[in-house]
Amino acid sequence: MKLTKKNLEERRDRVYDAIVIGGGAGGLSAGIYLQRYRLSSLIIDKGKARSFWMQELHNYLGLPPDTPGRVLLKRGEQHYESVNGDMLNGYVEEVVDEGETFAVRVKVGRQNSIYPTFRAKYIIAASGIIDNLVPLEDMRNVFEYAGYNLHVCMVCDGYEMADKQCGFFAGSEASIEEMVFNLSWFTPYITIFTHGLFEVSEPLRQELREHGYRLVETPIKQFLGENHRMTGVELVDGTEIGLETGLISMGSTYHNTYLKNIPLEMKGGYLITDKMGRTSHPRIFAIGDLKVGLNQVVVAAGDGALAATQIWREIRRDRGPRRWEE
Ligand code: FAD
Ligand code: FAD
Repeated sequence: MKLTKKNLEERRDRVYDAIVIGGGAGGLSAGIYLQRYRLSSLIIDKGKARSFWMQELHNYLGLPPDTPGRVLLKRGEQHYESVNGDMLNGYVEEVVDEGETFAVRVKVGRQNSIYPTFRAKYIIAASGIIDNLVPLEDMRNVFEYAGYNLHVCMVCDGYEMADKQCGFFAGSEASIEEMVFNLSWFTPYITIFTHGLFEVSEPLRQELREHGYRLVETPIKQFLGENHRMTGVELVDGTEIGLETGLISMGSTYHNTYLKNIPLEMKGGYLITDKMGRTSHPRIFAIGDLKVGLNQVVVAAGDGALAATQIWREIRRDRGPRRWEE
């Protein structure tokens, strides 16, 4: 059932088997498995994050390689609804560990917001991350191209960048060290832009020179192009540099603030889990981009299946086998 401000009272006293925070690829997959295991679940999703932004899902078996993320989400939501899962559009502000249950406090509605609390035995954190973009004065100029031929994920879009003139938009010296030499697997025609945000050390400058990669430290004024196709950048000094594609590598924001009062093992902003997705808390699972692993749709969907299966095993064991009663 789709929960709304009007009908959510009906669910106030329910203790769900699991609340899934985030309704992207991972959360929807988990929800479908949970419902098919005849567990009760609620997916709470604020909407519009990475799966929605993804213009083309290039590498998911069985789907055409130009499938937009929003198509995947729509199908997933319909599938989840068809197995009677509860879904709520809202922003999870806080999860409180009450011992036997978790209390999940949600903000519903941008205007005249209400703040209901829902309860569950298990939490699946599936709220993902979001990529930091080049901080220009006019962010609309960045949104025009980001996710089209101005990419944010080398694993997803390296193939699309093959042998093209590529701008690499770095957030730190570490991002150059970690990414640029790997990016050269796909294309060696790399121009690195620091946007004047940080200094590049002499040894790294030399290494870049040796590989023929260019370094531009003047800040960027704007991206050039039209119809979502970026063709270059204009720097603040008026210089224009032509490009065919780009990769932004400026770090991410992790959607995990609602867990701030629960101590969990992390690596960077990512949650550490075992192979079934369990975090260092026995009843909190983390799946998809928010956990340490490969940030891909196919992995998020697989993670959802594993976490739901582990939760089912535990609840099933607790309840014991059913008797045939006349
Ligand atoms: P998400 O899809 O990000 O879903 C998380 C959901 O949680 C979002 O809807 C978000 O709004 C919600 N949320 C966050 N915080 C809260 C909160 N506090 N309360 C309630 N809800 C919350 N992967 C591929 O496999 N192939 C590709 O070709 C590909 N291309 C990509 C292109 C782009 C431009 C981008 C940005 C990503 C691409 N990816 C691709 C990566 C892919 O999008 C992610 O790996 C995938 O979406 C991860 O799924 P997820 O469920 O973990 O997170
Ligand atoms: P497979 O799909 O089995 O592929 C292995 C391939 O290797 C086969 O084509 C085989 O012929 C080939 N092969 C084997 N040995 C050799 C050799 N020596 N040389 C060359 N080739 C070889 N899973 C779900 O997620 N959801 C479902 O609803 C679902 N329903 C199912 C219903 C049925 C009837 C069955 C049988 C399975 C179902 N599964 C379902 C499970 C799913 O089919 C498997 O998990 C999945 O196919 C595993 O993929 P795989 O690539 O590991 O193996």
